[in-house]
Amino acid sequence: MRIDIMTLFPDTVNAVLHESIIGRAVKKGILDINCVQIRDFTENKQNQVDDYPYGGGWGCVMMAQPLKSCLEHVMSTARENSTGENLRSRVIYMSPQGRPFTQTEARRLRDNYDHLVLVCGHYEGIDERFIEECVDEEISIGDFVLTGGEIAAMAVADSVCRLVPGVLADEECYTGESHWDGLLEYPQYTRPEVWEGREVPEVLLNGDHSKIEKWRRKQQLIRTRDKRPDMFARLDLSEKEDRELLKEISFEESRIKLTEPLSYRKASMDDLDPIMAIVADARAVLKKRKVDQWQGDYPEAKNFVSDIEKGECYLIFHGEEPAGFFTLSCAHEESYDAITDGKWTPDMECCVLHRAAVSAKYRGTGISSYLFRCVDEVSRSYGLRCIRTDTHRKNKSMQRLMRDRGYRYRGNIQISCEPGHDTARQAFEKILK
Ligand code: SAM
Repeated sequence: MRIDIMTLFPDTVNAVLHESIIGRAVKKGILDINCVQIRDFTENKQNQVDDYPYGGGWGCVMMAQPLKSCLEHVMSTARENSTGENLRSRVIYMSPQGRPFTQTEARRLRDNYDHLVLVCGHYEGIDERFIEECVDEEISIGDFVLTGGEIAAMAVADSVCRLVPGVLADEECYTGESHWDGLLEYPQYTRPEVWEGREVPEVLLNGDHSKIEKWRRKQQLIRTRDKRPDMFARLDLSEKEDRELLKEISFEESRIKLTEPLSYRKASMDDLDPIMAIVADARAVLKKRKVDQWQGDYPEAKNFVSDIEKGECYLIFHGEEPAGFFTLSCAHEESYDAITDGKWTPDMECCVLHRAAVSAKYRGTGISSYLFRCVDEVSRSYGLRCIRTDTHRKNKSMQRLMRDRGYRYRGNIQISCEPGHDTARQAFEKILK
């Protein structure tokens, strides 16, 4: 791609377009960018490029002659240096009256031409007859007026050049970016993992590429909808994946937002009522999803009384409001001894996570991830690095959550439960770093 920029300020433009990524591509010979001084083509002694406007009015207008002579020089040089027969050239006047420039326009210029001549006006603009005679199209970089066309030309040249093969490391560098497919890009993060108390979203840390891709697409949809409703309105959302993501987004947004600090502490007997309210909520969700995990009256208040007496039950708070609980026990769990289709990590002293739940109102808010972080912390406080737990085979959301939180499937176990109910459970284990 060859780009000639006709300007009164070639040094300014050259300095910018010969820096960084574009500058390196010029050095490699992938791009050929030249800034040509229009003043060098005047035919008057004073090297005057502009004059007063006919009819009066403010400022001066750039004369057609130096522009035409400059353009002729640019075209003949480009033809001489061109290796191909048909150099596809396009003369573009940078103008606030031009067609609005977009990423699609940048692609069009890259795809259809190998030589762009960008004409920068100054003062009040340029003689209309030059535009009529020599210009193929006018491009504007926005509905505002600049002092000169240089900044606009640099913007157009930069955005077209970075799409030329070989300029960026890979095509994906720009096909994933904002505006390529009508969407804005997802949020990006780099080290450190926690900065000023703000954490990098967990999904980006676990190396699961299909989850990362899904999360990124979801963020693109949310960002475009929130930041650029005009772009969102033009999107084709007929793909099944996008429709499902939009459903998930509206479900998640119908959930309450975590605006208060999260905390946890050991439960006391005074907490029995809120604990049982959360149990009722969680039981209703399991029933609706036909997960035969909590059967009959289990877990009952007496289970929690015993947990609280042993100091093993913890309550999670959003602000002052109880939002979830868990019981982390150091006692040996007999039903975990017989494990089939797999095995526990040998020779590990472990604690067992029982009876964990968050209230329905807080589902999907991220409080479950917080709960699992608290479980890790309590386990460490017990001096144990291994946490074991189990869940029903149909409790897919719990299994997903546990995998995300670093738990690994270890095999199957049978638990004792009420007659007529499903005794099969999947065993999970997490070894803390
Ligand atoms: N009198 C002109 C008008 O009202 O349309 C504006 C002239 S402007 C002060 C001087 C030069 O800046 C123009 O000739 C053009 O090259 C450039 N320019 C200004 N705004 C621009 C924009 N939004 N996009 C591209 N070029 C622009």
